[in-house]
Amino acid sequence: MANIDRVEARYYRRTEGAFVCELCQQKCFIRPGEFGYCGTRRADEDILVSNSYGKISSLSVDPIERMNLYHYRPHSKCLSVGSVGCNMNCQYCRNYSFAKLTIGKKRATYKSPEELLEMCREEDMGIVCFTYNEPMVWFEYIMDFARIAPDVHIVLMTNGLVNDGPLRELCEVVDAFCIDIKAFDRTTHKRLCEAELSEILATARNVFDRGVHMELNYLVIPGVNDSEDEIRRFCGWVKEISEDVPVHFSRFQPDYQMRDTPLTPVEELLRCREIGMETGLNYVYVGNTLVDDVDDTICPECGEIAVRRLGYSANPSGLDGDRCAKCGRHLHMVR
Ligand code: SF4
Ligand code: SF4
Repeated sequence: MANIDRVEARYYRRTEGAFVCELCQQKCFIRPGEFGYCGTRRADEDILVSNSYGKISSLSVDPIERMNLYHYRPHSKCLSVGSVGCNMNCQYCRNYSFAKLTIGKKRATYKSPEELLEMCREEDMGIVCFTYNEPMVWFEYIMDFARIAPDVHIVLMTNGLVNDGPLRELCEVVDAFCIDIKAFDRTTHKRLCEAELSEILATARNVFDRGVHMELNYLVIPGVNDSEDEIRRFCGWVKEISEDVPVHFSRFQPDYQMRDTPLTPVEELLRCREIGMETGLNYVYVGNTLVDDVDDTICPECGEIAVRRLGYSANPSGLDGDRCAKCGRHLHMVR
């Protein structure tokens, strides 16, 4: 068996006695003995190491709806798996106990890709969702798992900060992405999460253009990224990609360094949903609330309810395959 503490990272180059990581746009310059910004790349004297390879900090079985994927195999279960580390630093991170630590400071259990596959078989899970911390920084492990598990569907809940080379490889093996758009103003975005908005928008466009199922999640933070102008510009940008991309407006909950910012009022989420629908988006949802009727998938052609939802429960009885059971319109669904 390979030395699990020395799995070589992909996407880096050597320079001036150090390494430059080329996995994401943070472009970390890492000297031997140091870690990159995400805490998952360690420089040894001779190679850059994927330090979190196979090290699992969290594992659970969830409804796919919990991943903000409403048009991907609705009413399915997935195995949710996470490690540690993240290439952003969101001021509100609810998973900071996973995201902001390096392996060694957080308890994690090693599972080889084969062992993870075995677990899928035991639990009868046909979908694995890489989530909790940022999956992009687990690139090597996800690719190795995909290689040995071609019959397992892979989905990523991601911040979208990844260079195009690795993204291209992921698009070959990932079945669905839920990508977070953290703001639609460049300065706010940078301040909130320490990454460039333009890089995330490019990822989303590339995923869509490569034909992989994609849904977008916008966490609405009161007084920070929720102006009418910002929400309208975001919705307009989505429409330029496609009016059929599902959009989720999610509720902010105070955490980490933003404990003084209030919970998003439900009325505000409903206003964002209205803006999305006025813009002409076909599928706009409101997350983390238990409001009736706002999370259903309505056929844009005939107005029939195709999938009824409340919380994380979904009833897809209005679907016929990936189409509306009543009028036959394609609903941008993967079944
Ligand atoms: S993956 Fe991590 S080490 Fe590599 S550039 Fe991004 S933040 Fe830096
Ligand atoms: S991208 Fe996600 S995991 Fe990373 S810091 Fe932001 S909220 Fe936390």
